[in-house]
Amino acid sequence: MTTTDLPYTRNFIANAWVDAADGRRMTTEDPATTLPIAEVARSSAADVDHAVAAARAATAARSWSGMRPLARGRVLTEMSRILRSRKEEFARRLTLDCGKRLSEGRAEIEGSARYLEYYGGLAAALEGKYIPLGDGYMDFVVPVPHGVTAHVIPWNYPAGMVARSLSPALAAGNAAVVKTPSLDPLSAFIFAEAALEAGLPDGVLNIVSGAGSEAGAALVAHPDIDHIVFTGSTDVGRSIMRAASERTVPVILELGGKSAAIVFADADMANVEANVVAGIFENSGQVCDSMTRLVVEDSVYDEVVERVTALTAGLSIGAGIDDHEITPLISADQLDTVEGFATRAKAYGARITTGGARLGDLPGHFMAPTIAADVEPGMELNQSEVFGPVLSILRFSTAGEAVEVANGTQYGLAAGVFTADLDRALWCAERLEAGQIHVNEWGVGGVETPFGGFKASGLGREKGLESLEGYTQSKNVGIRRLNGF
Ligand code: NAP
Ligand code: MG
Repeated sequence: MTTTDLPYTRNFIANAWVDAADGRRMTTEDPATTLPIAEVARSSAADVDHAVAAARAATAARSWSGMRPLARGRVLTEMSRILRSRKEEFARRLTLDCGKRLSEGRAEIEGSARYLEYYGGLAAALEGKYIPLGDGYMDFVVPVPHGVTAHVIPWNYPAGMVARSLSPALAAGNAAVVKTPSLDPLSAFIFAEAALEAGLPDGVLNIVSGAGSEAGAALVAHPDIDHIVFTGSTDVGRSIMRAASERTVPVILELGGKSAAIVFADADMANVEANVVAGIFENSGQVCDSMTRLVVEDSVYDEVVERVTALTAGLSIGAGIDDHEITPLISADQLDTVEGFATRAKAYGARITTGGARLGDLPGHFMAPTIAADVEPGMELNQSEVFGPVLSILRFSTAGEAVEVANGTQYGLAAGVFTADLDRALWCAERLEAGQIHVNEWGVGGVETPFGGFKASGLGREKGLESLEGYTQSKNVGIRRLNGF
């Protein structure tokens, strides 16, 4: 098949489907087969200009920000309903493009619908306040949108990461420009399809595809954006913060992680096992807040290594569309990176109890699910984000030591504690340096709970009520009353 036979998705600007200004396109593949599946526009700075201008025009017309918030919320709720009504179709598109298992694809579309539903409901609940200044004065504070928000999206949740920042941004009255991830650009456009059907006004949502170094860099440096939300790697996040500082544009950064769970000897071991499957092997470990490390109490260390090794060796491996537990990594580069970490871990003295290498007999980018035991705090595998199906296991003898190991990286996204003793869990929760602390279940939370990183894992919070604060700024209106009555 030549690329010209492939389905082609144009950019979405001002409620219209448009080619890149210079007509270029780029291809996306199915990671399970490595075959091309579709084309999208390859945007340059000119296309980003076009999208930002459309968003600015919507902002200037106040077609969205000036709408009664209840009506704005209703449009988002309708977009949510449309996503749910087309869940199977959208989940299949997502799975083919990014490789994850179909049940996770369905959950991602459901999660995206929930963001729109939750923030749609909150649009009208965003209230200001009145500040008394004494007789003769009035003062009120209004939460107003920033204006044009720029959203740069990673490939690991190509729909969910759009929904997470777009829903509160739109609920608060902003107009958005989204840059899709190059490796799986197709799923961002489900929001365009839903927006058109739900009646979102022209220019409130604009979506462009293109390379980070080109379209992404042009977007974050654009003089006419008012806010940036970036979800991706810590290094690129830092470069985006530098670009934003040139124009004092506020940023929300959702970056990498190296999250650890502490396993005490009194933990329910069947529960720990279930959480290993969900915590590190979901999306084959390509999750920012994956449970990448288990820090295990001495007395149960051997048992945990043995149990986790056995369950990992028994996971089913294959294409996401067939709903296997271990699905391909997103790209050949990602597979090289992840395999490299496993190879070096062996050389540095970790004990690989299962996996450790790619699965070369399968056509896609498959990495064997891997357990690395006897990892030491200073090793690369305990410090660097792998972003693949590799679990490190470390040992501790006192709770203080466990917390020190868990905290001992540059990151601070999530941390967990498995124990039957709630006081002990809370003692650890007080000391763990992470935005999310999970007790006895990895990932407790939802659209309602704030999410974000300590330390190098990020800046600002997504999800929950707190997220709305990030997409508004306060305008204080102070009035001197000149007449006596
Ligand atoms: P990435 O390489 O940093 O890319 C993220 C996005 O930024 C992509 O759209 C990318 O475009 C774009 N980009 C790259 N260079 C850019 C530049 N100079 N200027 C503007 N945009 C640029 O990250 P990734 O590999 O896609 O995602 C994996 C990383 O994301 C991991 O570190 C993971 O932990 C993190 N993540 C964090 C969260 C969170 O909530 N904390 C959630 C998900 C993922 P291209 O696609 O064209 O490269
Ligand atoms: Mg793809």
